[in-house]
Amino acid sequence: MICQYFFGITNKEMNESKTFKNYINGQWLDASTHDTFEQRNPSRLSEVTGLFPLSSKEDTRLAIEAAQSAFTEWKILSPFARAKYLKKVLALMIERREDIAQIITLENGKIVSDSLGEIDSAIAEMEFQINEGLRLFGETVPVSIDGVFAYTVKEPLGVVSVISPWNFPFNVPVRKIIPALMAGNTCVFKPASLTPQTGYMFTKLFDEGGIPAGVLNMITGLGSVVGNILVTDPRIKAISFTGSTEVGMGIHQKASVNATRTQLELGGKNATVILEDADIDLAVKAVTRAAFACSGQWCTSTSRAIVVKKVAQEFIEKLVKATNAIIVGDGFDQNAGMGPVCGTDQFENIKKYIESGKKEGAILLAGGNEVRNNHLKEGCFIEPTIFVGVKPDMKIAQEEIFGPVLSVITVENFEEAIKVSNDIVFGLSSSIFTNNLKHAMTFVQQTEVGFTHVNLMTSLKEPQLPFGGIKESGVGMPEAGKTGIEFFIKYKTVYMKYS
Ligand code: NAP
Ligand code: MG
Repeated sequence: MICQYFFGITNKEMNESKTFKNYINGQWLDASTHDTFEQRNPSRLSEVTGLFPLSSKEDTRLAIEAAQSAFTEWKILSPFARAKYLKKVLALMIERREDIAQIITLENGKIVSDSLGEIDSAIAEMEFQINEGLRLFGETVPVSIDGVFAYTVKEPLGVVSVISPWNFPFNVPVRKIIPALMAGNTCVFKPASLTPQTGYMFTKLFDEGGIPAGVLNMITGLGSVVGNILVTDPRIKAISFTGSTEVGMGIHQKASVNATRTQLELGGKNATVILEDADIDLAVKAVTRAAFACSGQWCTSTSRAIVVKKVAQEFIEKLVKATNAIIVGDGFDQNAGMGPVCGTDQFENIKKYIESGKKEGAILLAGGNEVRNNHLKEGCFIEPTIFVGVKPDMKIAQEEIFGPVLSVITVENFEEAIKVSNDIVFGLSSSIFTNNLKHAMTFVQQTEVGFTHVNLMTSLKEPQLPFGGIKESGVGMPEAGKTGIEFFIKYKTVYMKYS
């Protein structure tokens, strides 16, 4: 009240300033029903950060229609003209870096330095994918008939949908939407309901950058309503989704009805193997970072450390020490090394997994509690948690927790380490710490994942290399690298008789 009086802002005005809109055909629109949903700061659940359109099926169809109309012009534009638009967006992104980071931290909870890191990674990926879009080369191919010239061209698919998660609410849309647009497609984008304002910030850059109406449309609302139309409407030619394995598998099934192409980046249970000849300090640093950064909510987080018996004690002691040094706090607090988890569902789910670990007989060596310090008890804070003595078949060793919980599994030798690391439904990322070349090469050959690392953390990635999982971690072509844009094109083969 005092605050509102001081700034002369009424409750109504405050709500209006925090009310956001959909972006359809170059216009900012409410949901047709005017219904909204709220987003809350995971560090302080009493704080509503904004109200967002709770869009209907009809609103979603309107966005698809806008993208369909815009496709006619956008697809025949030279890639150099498309790049010109996107470079304007990129320049704005670089300019707004700090502002966008604030919104990521506000909605997701991750510490500001990690939010800035997310934007920097998005900027690097955007630069790379704009340039990839200028290299959509075809082939000329000799044929058996005299006087016939044959070649291939790469063409866009049409309207594509992008459905993104809350853990990288800025980088994931960039990774999907930039190659889609550079290839000549138009797009309807649905951000996760936990991070809609980041989706708005992203879309605003395109609006201010002067992107033609309908080329990019953004619509907020329920996954089961908006998301479902974006998956089942026959005008959608490809779906790029990042999220849970459960939702992703459902999308794969539904998309098959219209033979819609899918790119699904799903869950993970990424392992780091530590052998007896490893640089233990290096391994501890990598595992601590990859297990607890963003509260363990990277899809590439390390959630299993598989360590051989001979060095288990040293590794565990150093790991616990490093973990206990992590300061949990509000992402805006400069001293904090780890923020809250993103929302109450995550909070409750992670606590259930911690209880399950205790019940199954794993030994809790660090953390294990929600944080109850005065000002933090209002948010979704969980201590960085380590279980040791974990058996490979325990729930905490098999299921994706997506939180700051690390399971340490001790094994006899290298062979057992490989077996345990692969004995799981997921296959996103992995890593091994060793100085033995034979073990490193054998691991790389046998690890069942989309990308792996030697003496590096499971989360390391670069824009020019493919990013995606196998098994239940991914379906379709990987994102990023050359495949990032390849997913969004189709081939046309041309035979031309000239004499
Ligand atoms: P999620 O529930 O699967 O949601 C992801 C997105 O899908 C959200 O935008 C969500 O909308 C939407 N959605 C939900 N139900 C849908 C439906 N029936 N049809 C179409 N869309 C639907 O996952 P999440 O909770 O946001 O994210 C956590 C999961 O994502 C974790 O399992 C994590 O491993 C995975 N992830 C994987 C990667 C990777 O690259 N492999 C990267 C990041 C995250 P609402 O928000 O409105 O529900
Ligand atoms: Mg969900």
